[in-house]
Amino acid sequence: MNYIEDIVATVIETTARKVLIQVPEGLKTRVVDIVNELQKHKIDSVVVADPCYGSCDIPTEYAKKLGCDIILHIGHNKFYKNIGSENMDHVLVLYYPWKINVDIDYNAMLELSKIKEHRIALFSVIQHLHELDKIKDALESMVREVSVKGQILGCWPNPDVDEDAVLIITSGQFHARPFNKPVYIFNTETKKLVKLDMRSEKKRFANIEKAKDATIFGILISSKSGQFQNPDDIEKMLQAKGKKTVKIIMNEITQERLEGLKVDAFINTACPRIVEDVFHRPIINAEDVEKI
Ligand code: SF4
Repeated sequence: MNYIEDIVATVIETTARKVLIQVPEGLKTRVVDIVNELQKHKIDSVVVADPCYGSCDIPTEYAKKLGCDIILHIGHNKFYKNIGSENMDHVLVLYYPWKINVDIDYNAMLELSKIKEHRIALFSVIQHLHELDKIKDALESMVREVSVKGQILGCWPNPDVDEDAVLIITSGQFHARPFNKPVYIFNTETKKLVKLDMRSEKKRFANIEKAKDATIFGILISSKSGQFQNPDDIEKMLQAKGKKTVKIIMNEITQERLEGLKVDAFINTACPRIVEDVFHRPIINAEDVEKI
């Protein structure tokens, strides 16, 4: 299937005259082709160059400022929480989860054969969902027993699995949360299999310990539509523990933007992956506040 023709046909059906296009980093190389194809049909467009990690981040403000009729969000399906993104502020959002095939060649087979557990629970990110049956067949040819579980997202609570191990098929970096079983990640870009180590869990508990000594907490709030969380309950919990609080809202939560703020530690109410970045002060996710 030619995805660009398919995308443009979907946009034409909406009768939109101006489109805001949002793509993940990995698809930026294709976006000019989409713009050119839309122009052939006299459809105007603007490309969003801000980083986009998921459908939790829909740029409705840009669409309104630019007078776009629709936002074309490529690379993910609709966010699992209701953020009103089907028709957000009267701007229609079209989701196009671009499918990416997975080449299970000799090297990929070698990597997958490193999984020694017998019964495997198989997950993938949205782009590779259509390939799970093929990957199941490949694993079964190596005498593994495979249950196809479907899509996984870094901010979903993980289900308990009965199998001996978990395999996640992903392109690029993936924020994997620990399961109750060993977790393997197969990266379809590098064609490498890595076993999830417990370093991020050790860092998590070290940060919780350090945060216990903090007096003033910065509560980080994201302005992204799907990551925004009202901070009031978190603030009350901290104040009940005798802590002082400062609420801070921003779009991209980074160390650079937090420099100069005189707080001892941060509570992240946005995407749980953020705490894996480098920060110069302890940072913990909101779900861990009760542990400090
Ligand atoms: S893991 Fe983070 S970036 Fe990805 S969809 Fe969830 S909140 Fe958004």
